[in-house]
Amino acid sequence: MTMTITSRTHQRIVIIGGGISGLSAAWYLQKQAAITGLDLEYTVLEQSSRWGGKVLTEHVETEEDQPFVVEAGPDSFLTQKPWALQLAHELGLEDQLLGTNDHKRNTYVLSKGRPVVLPEGVMLIVPTKFMPFALSPLISPLGKLRMAMDLFIPAKTDDEDETLASFIKRRLGDEALDKIAEPLMSGIYNADADKQSIMATFPRFRALEKEHGSLTKGMLASRRNHPAPKPGIKKTSVFMSLNQGTNALIDALVPKLTGELWLNTQVIDIHSGVEGKYAITLDDGKRLIADAIIIATPAYVSADLVQKLAPNAAKTLRQIRYVSTGTISLAFKEADIPQPLNGFGLVVPSSENKPFNAITISSTKFDNRAPEGYVLMRAFFGGSRSPQSMHLDDAELYDTIRAELRTILGIEADPLFHRIYRWWDANPQYDIGHLDRVAAIEADLPDSVYVTGSPYRGVGMPDCVHQSQQTVEKLLANILERQVSQ
Ligand SMILES: Cc1cc2nc3c(=O)[nH]c(=O)nc-3n(C[C@H](O)[C@H](O)[C@H](O)COP(=O)(O)OP(=O)(O)OC[C@H]3O[C@@H](n4cnc5c(N)ncnc54)[C@H](O)[C@@H]3O)c2cc1C
Repeated sequence: MTMTITSRTHQRIVIIGGGISGLSAAWYLQKQAAITGLDLEYTVLEQSSRWGGKVLTEHVETEEDQPFVVEAGPDSFLTQKPWALQLAHELGLEDQLLGTNDHKRNTYVLSKGRPVVLPEGVMLIVPTKFMPFALSPLISPLGKLRMAMDLFIPAKTDDEDETLASFIKRRLGDEALDKIAEPLMSGIYNADADKQSIMATFPRFRALEKEHGSLTKGMLASRRNHPAPKPGIKKTSVFMSLNQGTNALIDALVPKLTGELWLNTQVIDIHSGVEGKYAITLDDGKRLIADAIIIATPAYVSADLVQKLAPNAAKTLRQIRYVSTGTISLAFKEADIPQPLNGFGLVVPSSENKPFNAITISSTKFDNRAPEGYVLMRAFFGGSRSPQSMHLDDAELYDTIRAELRTILGIEADPLFHRIYRWWDANPQYDIGHLDRVAAIEADLPDSVYVTGSPYRGVGMPDCVHQSQQTVEKLLANILERQVSQ
């Protein structure tokens, strides 16, 4: 991101929300101001008593020498979308980066109550290796035949949105949707495959279909074209984390921010002020005046904040649906798990009707998550697939998950400890037509007011960081344009 701004007019920017989106917006604003010589000050306002929003790591001390590293929210970031990894590098965290244990990378799918390994070579949904797929009991022979039809079914060549369910059924059939796409691809978004927008969540699949006439041919071609890492360049894994957990990114970022950082500060609303400025009302009645505002809060909060300024944008912001999710992490002695999973975890198709959606074996996926001889795992619940579990109290939830672990992994022993985290109205849903809604929101916002973050163009940490970079770029270009025309 490079831009040269020569103006010296003082600008006051307010960023609302201190999650990864708000904080990375502050970081790029600060970096750009330093590079371009722009005279600006910024304030980040966060309603809670801590920074990071959904990025939250707890270190649980026990009698063992090493603490358990328990993630309450994200446990890693995708490196194919490079922006979170780049941020880690910019913050000097190279030495702390932690790849996944790829030699143990197996994913299981719960099928008729039993974990069945996802055949080797399945890339998200498409089998790219013949034998492991042909021999796998996960999909019936008829289901496999239907998946192979993808090679012959004519491609859809328009850019109209459709649901993930419609796309997968059209190309690969019902069984591929039920056993693989729904638990894996909707699982990432905690989404309902019958509502999930393919264009907002997996646009590449539609592009591959369009370009190669078939998803399978497209995936095979992109695998062939994938460049081998250059000699001397350290290979990063597909997902990376940090030795001390994802919160280490926040811990490194916050002290480097030179603007004003206010915790325990809730924004109530935003009004137009004089001379094109904005007045921001805080929960203690205080008012801040800003030349530009970046709103990095959940969409329904952003809707309330811009209600008076931009009622149409507020209305569309409210159309972004949210679901609630939770995680329960449990630590066991390795010896207490009679039927361990030989992999990173297990996903659960909706058709299994379980009170949870997935289990990650955190201590297999990453080193440094549990002391030697222990296993740390976490189960995900809520969302579109087990919303009923959000309403169990902690004791009921614990008993429910223990019963599932008994059946699936044969675990009778009590865990060393467990931790439950509930994220109410936390997961934005990219329902069909999502990108049109986002474009309408952006078009309906007044000059110098921006929304950014997980509700819009990607929920993962890399997408949040990327959107913040783009928002800062737009904001600075706008300041420049206004100053040039003055
Ligand atoms: C359980 C779970 C697991 C996940 N796993 C992964 C993963 O493995 N990898 C990955 O990349 N992503 C993952 N995600 C998604 C990712 O963590 C989030 O999308 C991302 O952290 C959202 O960041 P954000 O800054 O946009 O929003 P948030 O983190 O929601 O931050 C918004 C902030 O705004 C504050 N706020 C709200 N209202 C106001 C107000 N009126 N005034 C001031 N402040 C306000 C909130 O307190 C909050 O701190 C996961 C999410 C969850 C819940």
